[in-house]
Amino acid sequence: MSASSDYQRLRAHLAFLRMAAAAEALPGMLAEATTAKLSHSAFLERLLAIEVEATDERRRASLARFASLPSPFTLADFDFSAQPSVDPKLIAELGTLRFVEDATNVLFIGPPGVGKTMLAVGLGHVAVAAGMRAYYTTASELAARCHRAALEGRWATTMRFYAGPRVLIVDEVGYLPLPAEAASALFQVVSQRYLKGSIVLTTNLGIASWGKVFNDDAMVAGAMLDRLLHRSVVVNIDGDSYRMRSHRARAEATRKAVASHG
Ligand code: ADP
Ligand code: MG
Repeated sequence: MSASSDYQRLRAHLAFLRMAAAAEALPGMLAEATTAKLSHSAFLERLLAIEVEATDERRRASLARFASLPSPFTLADFDFSAQPSVDPKLIAELGTLRFVEDATNVLFIGPPGVGKTMLAVGLGHVAVAAGMRAYYTTASELAARCHRAALEGRWATTMRFYAGPRVLIVDEVGYLPLPAEAASALFQVVSQRYLKGSIVLTTNLGIASWGKVFNDDAMVAGAMLDRLLHRSVVVNIDGDSYRMRSHRARAEATRKAVASHG
């Protein structure tokens, strides 16, 4: 058996196993193995490490695509000095993802603009970086998707979809009152994830006003809250809107600039 036919068959094996990165690196690695007098196991380890890294990279990219996180901001971008009601230690603890291990839910509650979405999405980024399946949706998106699923006879599949991710982010619960059908879809998603998978939820409604989300159906609201809160971390954010803050800062800077010209 000639070296060149060995080489050809090795290329074919790598192609058959879909190890494209290793196949591409092969000629260079063989040359390096010869010059550096690598042992067989050292050579093989290096070649496989290239493929492992490429596979890991692909998996991460696919997790990131799937997660559909709406912004690139991470927990590190959160300015805690602007939001004294948010405890940095608590957010750091959440960032360890220990809450995911026992399917604890995280609720960010507060008025618009205080960073609820940013923190929820930040946790999503941490989960993806840790190789977990995470998925971001808004309450109204979830409702619309469940509505379509019901019409098209895909209800069970859609429920399985929302049960799948280790971390499900449901943003903006309570901004719009949910029609009864949507409320029951959300209820079912919460129920089937109960004690199995974490939900990170953001809402502008204090827990006492949750009846409103569910058209004053206190039974559904109560049952849902029981499941959500049973094992949960509630982060109440009551500071100023960050958006308003930057508007105000800009307005102030403009005012000063104008005054200094005058
Ligand atoms: P909410 O979901 O509570 O309405 P967002 O998370 O959408 O608020 O925040 C509004 C905007 O302000 C976003 O662009 C967000 O990145 C930014 N923001 C809010 N709070 C902070 C903060 N503490 N540090 C840095 N940026 C912030
Ligand atoms: Mg938001």
